[in-house]
Amino acid sequence: MVAGAVASEDVAVSDPRRGSDAVSFEAARIERVRPATSEPVIRTEDLARIYKMGEVEVRALDGVSLVVAPGEFVAIMGSSGSGKSTFMNIIGCLDRPTAGRYFLDGVDVSGLDRDQRAEIRNGKIGFVFQSFNLLARTSALENVELPLIYASGGQSAKDRAERARRCLAEVGLAGRENHLPSQLSGGQQQRVAIARALINDPKLMLADEPTGNLDSKTSEEVMAVFQRLNDGGKTVVLITHETDIAEYARRIVVFRDGRVVEDRPSEQRRAIGAVSAGATS
Ligand code: ADP
Ligand code: MG
Repeated sequence: MVAGAVASEDVAVSDPRRGSDAVSFEAARIERVRPATSEPVIRTEDLARIYKMGEVEVRALDGVSLVVAPGEFVAIMGSSGSGKSTFMNIIGCLDRPTAGRYFLDGVDVSGLDRDQRAEIRNGKIGFVFQSFNLLARTSALENVELPLIYASGGQSAKDRAERARRCLAEVGLAGRENHLPSQLSGGQQQRVAIARALINDPKLMLADEPTGNLDSKTSEEVMAVFQRLNDGGKTVVLITHETDIAEYARRIVVFRDGRVVEDRPSEQRRAIGAVSAGATS
């Protein structure tokens, strides 16, 4: 998994009520093999997350109920401190709510412990972060293969490489397999990170400020990739504080003070054509 992906685990405040409503791992496993064709990918009910810092409580999420259907492309917006990352950490199974429930692909994951969340996360969610988190001395292809190596799913090296090659082609980077991150532009590096997030064919792509380190032209290149993945049926939830980035999505949800204050279709959806490996900047 991505190095930064586990960071929020360490800040999770333990909740004594967890024990009673914990879903058994076996139950979650059985639920997961059940076909979930019409299930929302995300369904949250009155989600709350309170950070306790000594005597001080920060109510980072305060009653968030949201449904995201398969194939949606949702941008989560809101000013700094509005709860976007806290929400992403919970829907990404990196953290769990203080109260409320979260169903991922029909499975109640709100009570799962750390190991159970890790397993669900590895199977169902592809993460993309603002920092690309690529290994510097490792080729694009090997960076993309990494989640497969960690998962040790019994695939041969040849199969892994073939899958990674296909994911790189999907983000327009065919021919760049052997490049090191330093030999790629920022936009291309982020596309390698997107390919890495795709390698397990996740139900849900989650991106937290994926264009935060990129200039506007390069941001377009990256957003074109998300649009193309979504056009191919992938469910994408993307966090941004930039209006013009949000306009690439189909639906825009605005957070303020830990609550959803706006939920609307993207008015002037920005669309870009195919992206090629040569689109550097
Ligand atoms: P955003 O991503 O929209 O900028 P965050 O979800 O990071 O917002 O933060 C929401 C609120 O929760 C803020 O007030 C922030 O200071 C607080 N917060 C976030 N993470 C922590 C943490 N680990 N411990 C304490 N407070 C936190
Ligand atoms: Mg944030």
